[in-house]
Amino acid sequence: MIHEHRVLNPATEELVATVPATTAEEVAVAVTRAAAAQRTWAALAPADRARLLRRFAVLVDEHAERLAELEVTEAGHTLGNARWEAANVRDLLDYAAGGVERLTGRQIPVPGGIDVTFLEPLGVVGVIAPWNFPLPIAAWGAAPALAAGNAVLLKPAETTPLTALRLARLALDAGLPEHLFQVLPGAGDVAGNALVEHPGVAKIVFTGSTRVGKQIMARCAQRVKRLTLELGGKSPNIVFADADIEAAAAAAPMSFLDNAGQDCCARTRILVQRSVYDRFLEHLVPAVASVAVGDPSDEKTQMGPLISRAQLERVRTLVPEDADGIRGSAPGGPGFWFPPTVLTGIAPDAPVATEEVFGPVAVVLPFEDEDDAVRLANATAYGLAGSIWTRDVGRALRVSRAVRAGNLSVNSHSAVRYWTPFGGYRQSGLGRELGPDALAAFTETKNVFIGTEA
Ligand code: NAD
Repeated sequence: MIHEHRVLNPATEELVATVPATTAEEVAVAVTRAAAAQRTWAALAPADRARLLRRFAVLVDEHAERLAELEVTEAGHTLGNARWEAANVRDLLDYAAGGVERLTGRQIPVPGGIDVTFLEPLGVVGVIAPWNFPLPIAAWGAAPALAAGNAVLLKPAETTPLTALRLARLALDAGLPEHLFQVLPGAGDVAGNALVEHPGVAKIVFTGSTRVGKQIMARCAQRVKRLTLELGGKSPNIVFADADIEAAAAAAPMSFLDNAGQDCCARTRILVQRSVYDRFLEHLVPAVASVAVGDPSDEKTQMGPLISRAQLERVRTLVPEDADGIRGSAPGGPGFWFPPTVLTGIAPDAPVATEEVFGPVAVVLPFEDEDDAVRLANATAYGLAGSIWTRDVGRALRVSRAVRAGNLSVNSHSAVRYWTPFGGYRQSGLGRELGPDALAAFTETKNVFIGTEA
């Protein structure tokens, strides 16, 4: 069994830290403690819970630069992205705090009495996070769950536990009850699995690969455990002939190169109407070449390294070496670097065109008309995100409704916003996070009828 995890800086391969791996027995102890803390937390007046969460947000803000530096060091994120991510955690905590007093039930008209509903906390929630956005994804689960009156046990990815551990310390400093928000670094099949299997954990929020998500769903089914899944994606970027082609080509690179392509929403299938295919590629070539790839701690850098050697090998395996296309540059020497890559002449059903690569790689595929674009857009098992470039408002709406995905943007590649819902269709996930209903996803609805006739 692995007793500790080595955290490497993906840009340099230097050892950053070693972190003890939580055992299944330690998870069980954490669950018992969290359950006790949750009872204290849920008994607090809503305004007091909200105040403590706001204080947590203030501490995140005060430590934002340090959190961002940690994210750069352990995950290879560019400094600009990492700063955005720390601010996202702060804002999400504030937003969730604003929901505590607004988490109201309903009063429903019935004969012979009154009927009211209560939104009750679930108890202990397990959040299992991936390595690609360690900070925000930890908070997307933890902040609304805490605000709704739950305790949270967070299992970060093996490679990226440091920001999560820092967050847990800030929560304690803010005055949240001890053991209410615990971070349990460790192996997925040990600490993660122990959370999934433990009867004292009421809900699992899992963000990660579709492969592991399916296994977790099957295990949760044994206990009818509540579950949110945020899984993989292979999202289309659909460019119609009537679009502003220069703008679409200029925006395309960072829609799949951000975070070195390790983004579940990456627009990795660029679908271009055949009549403008050549013109689009002409503009795309300089746009890809101009992306600054290098040291992630440099403010001007737009793309950093991949997370690990294993991920680098996976990307290399999926990208045919002899394929035609556009290739940018990447640093040599230590670090897990892969250059920006756009492949052309790829069959629409080739693995690189349908499977999630999770690296800085996109394919460009031509289409004939609107029906063909929608058919191609939907021709994967996933349904997380997508973009549509057109000047025709009717077409923008028709195609937005026809693409089977949870998060679409028109004439933009919009980032995830904490105040709008986020989640996937089909094998990209189950349930929604963020947005106005985020807290409700961490509650059970209880219906109570009070007779007035007796
Ligand atoms: P992963 O599935 O390998 O691991 C995710 C987490 O699950 C890690 O913490 C891991 O330790 C844990 N885990 C692994 N096996 C487990 C098991 N048997 N039981 C319980 N936990 C287990 O995914 P990853 O490689 O860390 O992340 C990349 C994937 O995440 C990509 O597929 C990406 O698309 C997806 N992702 C999705 C979203 C979204 O919101 N839809 C966001 C970010 C990442």
